[in-house]
Amino acid sequence: MPAACAKKLSKKDKKYFDSLMVAREIVTKQMNQHVSVALNSGNTKHGAVTHMADYGGENFRRDIELQMLTEEGNVVELIEDAIGRLMEGVYGKCVDCEDAIPHGRLEVKPYALYCTKCKSIREKNNGTNPNLD
Ligand SMILES: [Zn+2]
Repeated sequence: MPAACAKKLSKKDKKYFDSLMVAREIVTKQMNQHVSVALNSGNTKHGAVTHMADYGGENFRRDIELQMLTEEGNVVELIEDAIGRLMEGVYGKCVDCEDAIPHGRLEVKPYALYCTKCKSIREKNNGTNPNLD
């Protein structure tokens, strides 16, 4: 880890850096847990497209674990990206409109990519922002 770089960060950025590190540790731990649950749910049936009601408890559970794992993997990527932006001095800016992401939002979600406004625009448009060229 670029521990040496962290020294160059401002006090505020250092705080964000720390919360990103904590967030990454938490997500990594969760991933490890989900991996072991998914691996231990010993049912080998997979790939079948079945109705929800047809799922056995184990299969259903494993699918949920795997889905969470995928989402957590995405979060780890977002956290890595945020650390990179922090190092480049562009952390905390909305990727879409370049407005500052509110501090309160970054405290809850230090890896947030978008400001509240752009986030809700994207949520209404299947994850895309039609205001962008
Ligand atoms: Zn924005």
